[in-house]
Amino acid sequence: MYSKEEFINIRDQFTILSRNIYGRPCIYLDNAATTQKPKKVIKAIEDYYQEINSNVHRGTHYLSQKATETMEKSRIKIQKFICAEYSNDIIFTRGATEAINLVAYGMMPLIKEGDEIIVSQMEHHSNIVPWQIICKGTGAILKVIPLDNKNQLCIESFEKLLSKKVKILAISHISNVLGIVNPIKYFIKKAHQYGIITLIDGAQAVCNDYVNVQDIETDFYVFSSHKMYGPTGVGVLYGKESFLEQLYPLHGGGEMIKEVLFKKTTYADLPFRQEAGTPNIEGIIALSASIDFIKQIRMKKIKKHEKFLLDRAIYGLKNIKGILLYADNEPRSGIISFNLKDVHSFDVGSILDQLGIAVRSGHHCAQPLIRFLGVNGTVRVSFCVYNNDEEVDHLCEGVLKAKKMLL
Ligand code: PMP
Repeated sequence: MYSKEEFINIRDQFTILSRNIYGRPCIYLDNAATTQKPKKVIKAIEDYYQEINSNVHRGTHYLSQKATETMEKSRIKIQKFICAEYSNDIIFTRGATEAINLVAYGMMPLIKEGDEIIVSQMEHHSNIVPWQIICKGTGAILKVIPLDNKNQLCIESFEKLLSKKVKILAISHISNVLGIVNPIKYFIKKAHQYGIITLIDGAQAVCNDYVNVQDIETDFYVFSSHKMYGPTGVGVLYGKESFLEQLYPLHGGGEMIKEVLFKKTTYADLPFRQEAGTPNIEGIIALSASIDFIKQIRMKKIKKHEKFLLDRAIYGLKNIKGILLYADNEPRSGIISFNLKDVHSFDVGSILDQLGIAVRSGHHCAQPLIRFLGVNGTVRVSFCVYNNDEEVDHLCEGVLKAKKMLL
């Protein structure tokens, strides 16, 4: 937890949170969809356009060099943030989705009929559909780690799926629906014993936990800027150099070449080989500002604060008769998925919206998980640095009100 003064300073960074929604204070609890952006991130974008706007890497002039320098500093900041060995291990993408596609399509020529790819029942669609496409194109087979009765990845079933036929294990670090933190280090270690390449979807994790890609020893790790206080349209693919080297480029074009001849084109070295076209320069620079924001508060405090909010919300919601909570496990990050018995999640979401409370209702881009839960959607509440106990209490009162109105 932070002090009252610290909280006021954090909150003050987010102008949008002082606006009203339908005449009521804005309570934003949809952070797993995207977080709000602090002033310093917005300022980084503005500063870029007002002071150094220019295309990167190709220019010899002052502005281009400044833009390149600033963007490349961001690459180094991200490298350090996730403890990657080299800055060239960091590839900029449009988001976690594109990063996963980059790996999936990049590996396609290396996958053959009868090979297997493992994902899990709790994946976001962006870590399912690309692999289905690859399976369709190659004749590989998609295998799924089921969940156990606590909605956790079933370790026993995972171990049974392991074999030399498996080429890739692609699973999430933290579930964007349940907030469950998966023991990815264990999964990666086991997969490596069979020579399986690992990809971890960290979209829900980087803003909620320390990530050390060298410690977990994953081959690939992906995330999106917009879920960690940065702008939309930017993401990161981390890969160990030797694994990035094996990927065929998904996009061809400028930036990613050494020499273009009609009979043969040679590609640039990493990371540029995987970054065709003009990148989202201002977004990449602003992502660096979002990392500064997180570091300034410190991850340890963020985790503690979110845990405090989570515990308070679970306690408050459990007091409502007829509430169904879909995960009660530890370790968890600041996400709760729930339903009111016999009520559609959209109805609860709409009533909360009328009270100025933003939550998400539906399948959260994880239909196989929602189907496993036996429902057609859940109400998802997700906390972050700028939420407080008063907002949690308003949420619980709002859910109670929704219950009274709907039942
Ligand atoms: N994986 C997870 C776990 C997510 O929560 C999300 C975004 N909701 C994604 C992948 C996809 O991220 P993006 O839409 O930013 O590409």
